[in-house]
Amino acid sequence: MRAALAYVGLGANLGDRVGQLRKAAVALDAAPRTRVRRRSSIYETTPVGGPPQGRYLNAVLELETQLAPLALLEQCLAIEATLGRQRSEVRDEPRPIDLDILLYGDEVIAERRLVVPHGKLHQRAFALVPLVEIDPNIEHPALGRQAATLLRRLAATSVVRTEETW
Ligand code: ATP
Ligand code: CA
Ligand code: CA
Repeated sequence: MRAALAYVGLGANLGDRVGQLRKAAVALDAAPRTRVRRRSSIYETTPVGGPPQGRYLNAVLELETQLAPLALLEQCLAIEATLGRQRSEVRDEPRPIDLDILLYGDEVIAERRLVVPHGKLHQRAFALVPLVEIDPNIEHPALGRQAATLLRRLAATSVVRTEETW
């Protein structure tokens, strides 16, 4: 299979937030036929939706991968579990790590288990700001708009670059 560029959004608001982001990046780089090519800065953001909860650290990784989209999702879910993620029925609850596939090449996927581009990417400054840092010209293949254009349309929310390093 040809390599694709995929963009994964990372989020953490429980436990050792920066430690979990670092471990997730190392684990994605160690996933089969996958390497991390670029990393955004690490941002601190205000939670959107869900019960009252602490602020998130968010970042985006650019991956070069030969994994198919569903296989990459499996890797993400397995890494989340390794880092202590437990799901309940509560939507948008606090979590030690969340790994969302934001983009996978220019593919548009609408399957039961996987929607790509991520269905809320265009509404979320906490995902678009780090994505734009990596590549402002990257295109949302379903909306036909560049990431920087999508970001300009959003109301201002708190997304603050931190000095945390990978
Ligand atoms: P949101 O999707 O609003 O960001 P969430 O990240 O809290 O919510 P999760 O509980 O982490 O939601 O994931 C629920 C399911 O979403 C996953 O098991 C997965 O099958 C599905 N899913 C669909 N599209 C994607 C995607 N692009 N990236 C990751 N998971 C996805
Ligand atoms: Ca998410
Ligand atoms: Ca998720």
